[in-house]
Amino acid sequence: MTTDALIPTYARLPVHFTEGKGAWLTDTDGNRYLDAMSGIGVCGLGHCHPAITQAITEQASRLIHTSNLYHIDKQTELAERLRNLSGMERVFFGNSGAEANEAAIKLARLHGHKKGIEVPSIIVMEDSFHGRTLATLSATGNRKVQAGFEPLIRGLTRAPYNDVDAIKTIAKNNPSISAILVEPVQGEGGLNIPANDYLNALKEICEEHDWLLMLDEVQTGNGRTGKYFSYQHNGILPDVVTTAKGLGNGFPIGACLVAGKATELFQPGAHGSTYGGNPLGCATSLAVLTTLEKDGLIQRASELGKRISDGLNDRLAELENVTEIRNKGLMIGIELALPCGELVQQALNKGLLINVTAGNVVRLLPPLVLSNTEADEIIQKLSTLISTFLLKQ
Ligand SMILES: *Cc1c(COP(=O)(O)O)cnc(C)c1O
Repeated sequence: MTTDALIPTYARLPVHFTEGKGAWLTDTDGNRYLDAMSGIGVCGLGHCHPAITQAITEQASRLIHTSNLYHIDKQTELAERLRNLSGMERVFFGNSGAEANEAAIKLARLHGHKKGIEVPSIIVMEDSFHGRTLATLSATGNRKVQAGFEPLIRGLTRAPYNDVDAIKTIAKNNPSISAILVEPVQGEGGLNIPANDYLNALKEICEEHDWLLMLDEVQTGNGRTGKYFSYQHNGILPDVVTTAKGLGNGFPIGACLVAGKATELFQPGAHGSTYGGNPLGCATSLAVLTTLEKDGLIQRASELGKRISDGLNDRLAELENVTEIRNKGLMIGIELALPCGELVQQALNKGLLINVTAGNVVRLLPPLVLSNTEADEIIQKLSTLISTFLLKQ
């Protein structure tokens, strides 16, 4: 149902889903759709995974919320699990990606002031996406997200993505930098995958200048790229990591993890969230982590990513106007040489859910529980759609 009772902030597709199971959604007319978007990279375990539904149901019938006035055993347990998975030292829980990034931005300010910088600044990237709150939209490298909401927050210095020399130049000329905030792969900005050693180079610069390396793993985290966090491909440890999306498989939860020089920055009273880390959210995330591990899904994300990108390459790479097919695990982008937003509706008509980002990049964020048959169906349907679309140009 559509209604004017909602503030029209979203351009929605004309479909209403009523049920989901694994990689499939069913609409009000009983049509089935293969979901290659997982609710924007959220439902990594697919829709209504039985282990998640069970964890939510059990916890909801025992205890939902108490607030952080008291100890929360599930929160403690989740923090320790995440610490073991990530190599980071401590965790703060919020309810979304933007909130996790707000915590990171506050940490960068604390670190700057501690260094004696009066107006500390964070290096942020062109084409980045960090959320829709005032600080995170200011950090985002997309004018459309910012327009109308000026004045943006101060203390941000913009640099091109995947350009280490640009960061070195800033380091030389700007003594007020206290941190870098960067996505290991840019999701919203066009599925941009940097050079393999990009994060290593940033880590080195951060060490040299006593800056925090803050990685926004809201989309890349929780197994999606074939490691629990994407920085684990690089063998480095950042100072701050933020995550959300896949952490709750649809339950709203976000986290900001700290290590090294960021570990002691937040002192009692410095930050907080009413819902953050409540028993229900943490019980859900614990079930997500257990399932990822038990079913070997992080390794599976690598295999599936390769299968899908190889399959698409076989069918599309030679076509004129296919610029590049790239992936890191199950973040998959097909860049075309022309705008292709209309493919989203065409795919929907064929029972496939995809997304187009940056105007000309078809983006897939399929669930990690995909079968090979389902992966092949995505390859088949999508390559037919794209080749038909290109033939008509
Ligand atoms: C989705 C996303 C966010 C924002 O997360 P919300 O939960 O919508 O606030 C931030 N950073 C990245 C990289 C994202 O993909």
